[in-house]
Amino acid sequence: MSAKASQSDAPGRRQGRQGPAGSQELLIRGGTVVDEHAERRSDVLVRDGVIAQVAPDLSASTGARVLDAGGALVTPGLVDLHVHLRQPGAEEAETVESGSRAAARGGFTAVVAMPNTDPPIDCAAVVEEVLALAQTALCRVVPAGAITVGRAGERLAPIGELAGLGVRLFTDDGNGVQDAGVMRRALEYASGLGVTLAQHCELSSLSDGGVMHEGVWSSRLGVPAVPAEAEELMLSRDVALARLTGARVHFLHLSTERSVSMVAAAKAEGLPVTAEVTPHHLSLTDAELVGFDPLYKVSPPLRSSEDVAALRAGCAEGVIDAVASDHAPHPPEKKETTLAAASPGMVGLETALAVTLGALTDGTAMSRRQVVGLMSWQPARIAGLHRAQGGDQGGPIAPGAPANLCVFDPDERWEVDPARLASRSRNTPFAGRTVCGRVRHTVFAGEPVVIDGEAQR
Ligand SMILES: [Zn+2]
Repeated sequence: MSAKASQSDAPGRRQGRQGPAGSQELLIRGGTVVDEHAERRSDVLVRDGVIAQVAPDLSASTGARVLDAGGALVTPGLVDLHVHLRQPGAEEAETVESGSRAAARGGFTAVVAMPNTDPPIDCAAVVEEVLALAQTALCRVVPAGAITVGRAGERLAPIGELAGLGVRLFTDDGNGVQDAGVMRRALEYASGLGVTLAQHCELSSLSDGGVMHEGVWSSRLGVPAVPAEAEELMLSRDVALARLTGARVHFLHLSTERSVSMVAAAKAEGLPVTAEVTPHHLSLTDAELVGFDPLYKVSPPLRSSEDVAALRAGCAEGVIDAVASDHAPHPPEKKETTLAAASPGMVGLETALAVTLGALTDGTAMSRRQVVGLMSWQPARIAGLHRAQGGDQGGPIAPGAPANLCVFDPDERWEVDPARLASRSRNTPFAGRTVCGRVRHTVFAGEPVVIDGEAQR
């Protein structure tokens, strides 16, 4: 492992190279600007990586680059709280660079990289290695740290030391922390440091060996399954531990109806909890497993249609704070096998926005702006990357703000072609499906890293 970077990368600092647009003007013309505060027709002028002007009918100076935003929304860059970039250790599946390119094509200007790499991100050397790789990424890449050494659930990782390097989110994702005493100590430690623990809620004693959701379809297909209770028991335990310790807990990829109710109750009580759901849990059910296709194997598993409806309602009612892709790339040999042997997970960065728009603006009362909030300023706050927290993500789109922007056409329909993904992996369950909502341009630190859907480097 190389740990060349000696400098920390706190969220407030600008990351990465300036890019060719660093000293150039960029005019984003003809779009509708949507941020936390308002929605209005406006052009956006970017100069030296910073938003210079936001007003209708701006004119560009000679030499400025003009990006067409006609018919499109111009939003703060999307922020993904949950991606697996596989580096170090599984570069055949993804790298920080390829994953950041997929992220940029998906409209993301910041992603939180999960620590279940090999070696895991549980010590300063690996944090520094990922931060060094992030220097040339096409979006901000922020490593999450492990809660326990080796993600083994026993001894606490050096959370304080990693927090000193700028890590704000800690998780053993891939696994939940099984031991309540370990989780309690981690929460007490984290709350003193002002960092957030994020839990993959799954009790392994109920989930081990399961390949899909336990319900009508698993009985019909006769395969071992994971009951909703595997998630709900750990969630309920961690709500209790949040109450006991006063520490913040973020719940990763919630998938069941009762999970949504429990988070609603915890918030009503004033507990400092937040929750995310994934685009696939908002749009697909366990019925997809009817053909035993490992592309639909994911952890937590796809649930019932009642669960999907409850997750959508949870988003609409503000119980769910964020949509996160849980982008989980795998090489073909890990997916082209039996359901039992296949690795769980799906790539999702490049389809997240369209799939989420489809799931949440169809049949719920949610506006496009609310959906953007779930994918931009709300996750930016959970990750500690929001401008209001000293970071450079989440908007608002106003003069003086760092130019991290997503420009997408909410009405453009497109077919998902796995061969065209920028990710190194192809394991998307949406292959061949037509989705609506396409990222046109992504601007990261003032640099147009994606223009007309194509990554520029
Ligand atoms: Zn997980």
